[in-house]
Parts: sequence; C-alpha cells; structure tokens
Amino acid sequence: MADQANPFDSLQEQLDAAAEYVDARDDVLERLKHPERVLETTLSVELDDGSIELFDAYRSQFNGDRGPYKGGIRYHPGVTRDEVKALSGWMAYKCAIVDIPYGGGKGGIEVDPANYSESELERLTRAFAAELRPLIGEDRDIPAPDVNTGQREMNWIKDTYETLEHTTAPGVITGKALDSGGSEGRVEATGRSTMLTARETFAWLGRDLSEATVAVQGYGNAGSIAARLIDEQGGTIVAVSDSSGGIYDPEGLDAEAVADTKAETGSVVDHAGEEISNDELLTLDVDLLIPAALENAIDEALAHDVEADVITEAANGPITPAADEVLADKEVYVVPDILANAGGVVVSYFEWVQNRQRFSWTEERVNDELEAVITDAFDDLVEAHETNGTPTLRTAAYAVAIERVVDAYTQAGNWP
Ligand code: NAD
Repeated sequence: MADQANPFDSLQEQLDAAAEYVDARDDVLERLKHPERVLETTLSVELDDGSIELFDAYRSQFNGDRGPYKGGIRYHPGVTRDEVKALSGWMAYKCAIVDIPYGGGKGGIEVDPANYSESELERLTRAFAAELRPLIGEDRDIPAPDVNTGQREMNWIKDTYETLEHTTAPGVITGKALDSGGSEGRVEATGRSTMLTARETFAWLGRDLSEATVAVQGYGNAGSIAARLIDEQGGTIVAVSDSSGGIYDPEGLDAEAVADTKAETGSVVDHAGEEISNDELLTLDVDLLIPAALENAIDEALAHDVEADVITEAANGPITPAADEVLADKEVYVVPDILANAGGVVVSYFEWVQNRQRFSWTEERVNDELEAVITDAFDDLVEAHETNGTPTLRTAAYAVAIERVVDAYTQAGNWP
C-alpha cells in the first residue's frame, strides 16, 4: 500500500477529531480509544508434509458496552496486533452508527492462504477456533469473514466450537453457508451498503448515481459486488483493479463479466480493457471512487492527485488521516467505512437474529431491512454533519457513534 500509517494511530486520530463534537468527559472518551483485551497466540499447525509451522494470530475485543463483540477474522501476511486493534475499534463504532446491539471485535492470522492446501487451512482455522473458544459465544463475541476468509472458514469455526462445547450454537459466528445457518443476502451485503450509501450521497448532493462514472480498487467480495450493484443502478464502471493491477475502459466495463474473468483466471487484468496501475486508478477523473482493498490505499501524497468527487470507503481504513484532511480541503465527499461497508455486519446481525430464532428470512426481507438500516444511519450522519458543522462526514459519523457508546457506558456505570 502507498503509506505505512499505523492503523491504530489512525483510529485514535479519528476518535480525537470527533471527540470535540461529543458531550462527554475526557476520561470517558480516553477509555473508548483502547481495546478492552487482546488475545495474542502462536498457532502450531501440522503441514501436509508432516512438518510443524507456527502462525501469529490475534483477537481484539475493543468495546462491549452495547452488546457482544462483533467483527471479522482476516488471513493476510500483513496482519499485526495494531492492525487487529484498529479494525476492532472501527467495528465498535460501525455497530454504533448503524445502531445494532453489538460491540466491536476483530481477529486475524498472519498468513498468506494462497501458499497452503485446503487441509492445511482447515487445521489452521480449527487451531485458531480452539484458542478462541473460551472468548467467543453467541452472547460473548461473534466472529465473521474478512479479507481472505469466507463461508468455508466460518463453517469450520462453527463446527469446532460446537464440537468442543457439545452443543449447537450457529449464532457463534456469521457469514456461514446457507445450509450451515447462514443468511440470504449476506454475501452481497457489504457491497450493497456501499451502493446504497453512494446512491444516498449522490441524492443528497442533488445528483444521480445512474449518471456517475465509477472506479473500484480491489475486486473481491466488497468491491466486485458494489461494482455489480452500481452497474445495475445505471452507473458506469470505468475502471477496476486487484492486487495484480487494473483495467480501464471509458465506455464502461460489465461488472459481472469482469467478476467472471477474475473467477476464471484469478485477476481482473485478464479482462479486456486498457491496463492501468492501482495509483492511476485511484487518481482517475471519475465521479465516484471506491477503495475496496486494504488500509492506507490513499495517503497524503496521493490524495493531492485524487480527482473523484465522492469516495465511498468499501474497505476499512483506506484513507490515512493526513489524506483525509487534503481531501476535505479539496471538497471531496468521503463516505466513511464505518457506514459504507456496514452492510456486512448488519446482515451478520440479521443472520444471528435468525439463528437465535431458528427461523429464516427471505432475501427480499433481508435486503429491505438492510436498506432501512443504512438509509436511517445515513440520515443520522447527515443531520450530525449539518447541525454540528463537522469538517467531514467521517467526523460526523464518529460523533454519532461515540455518543451512542458513551450513553451505554454511562447508563451501565463503571465496573468494578
Ligand atoms: P477479498 O479478499 O474478497 O478482496 C480483496 C481484494 O483486494 C482482492 O481483489 C485483492 O486482489 C485486492 N487487493 C489486495 N491488495 C490490493 C492492492 N494493493 N491493490 C489493489 N487491490 C488489492 O476481501 P473483501 O472481503 O472484499 O475485503 C476488502 C475490504 O473490505 C477490507 O478492507 C475488508 O476489511 C473490508 N470489508 C469487507 C467486508 C466483507 O463482508 N467482506 C465487510 C466489511 C469490510
């Protein structure tokens, strides 16, 4: 990525920027800048050739004032303790801005899964699940997928937990396959909230998403589905990329066909279109830019060259705080990650509710309820932005979210 900003420092700076708009004591606000606890473990896993390999793994439980900790598990060689802490904090405030009854958590294993067989990844995942077992549970901490994890890993974690606990507890994890207790609409949910927040932002600005040109960095779960749903809304996807590079077509790419190419060959670069670099994609003159890869994609230097009017953050933490200031000065509207990609956690919440009720909703109901949650949260954010005159939409989102966490904490009182 372009910049090596420590994501945990970024989180704390974002919280400090919003704190001045929140009516709360400094000591209470300071408490909300640190995780409650972090599990750090070394997983010992047998490889297919019989040798043993060690993997560093983490689970951060950031804040549980509003409910059980909630957040994904990432498999990536760049996973660090500070990254997981930051991601867990973003989850706490994400759950608060969309007003679902969860706190924030996040986990990760420092691994490149592309280098391991399926059976090795299963043993790695089950080893992590066994370490997590005392900390997680339907009412305690509920993991979910993140970068390089999906239904397969969630099903293994659920099975490990249920086997060790001698019970059935599908709500211990979300993002499961349908037959293992997953929800309709979960796979699409993150991209759907990105599309919905983009649509609402353009409407708020008196514009129409159907007339927008769009560039998407990162073509995995979040990015490819956001692209397809925006394509369906009439927007023109002119550029997309993944870790191998990008493609550009000013006439518009067929988002679904690009996803098919990536599924077949492993990369979007094999699809027809002019090849461009990731930095070129991020600085294209488009109406809407969607960073959907990893943190720190847009740093201060790159921000000066960004030409998009609106950025909708499908990824977590893709813009450094210094870049945020540059973009605000240039009057680029940034819809923050804690709202733009909240669809994943909102439908995870719906999945958990269905698991607890042992009753499944239709896809139509899931999508309708998601749309209601996201549009309500967007309205809360805009109201906070206009009422308080916050410099950015991000600061407004954090102000609303922090206030909700502070209220829950204050009402419960400190312990012990
Ligand atoms: P994914 O693994 O499905 O996709 C990630 C994509 O980013 C891949 O196409 C990969 O090639 C690409 N990528 C990696 N490095 C890149 C680089 N340097 N330049 C360009 N592209 C690069 O992951 P995902 O689940 O789509 O997650 C992407 C982001 O969205 C992450 O920040 C994640 O935390 C966030 N997010 C995901 C969900 C979800 O439900 N999947 C929910 C909320 C937030």
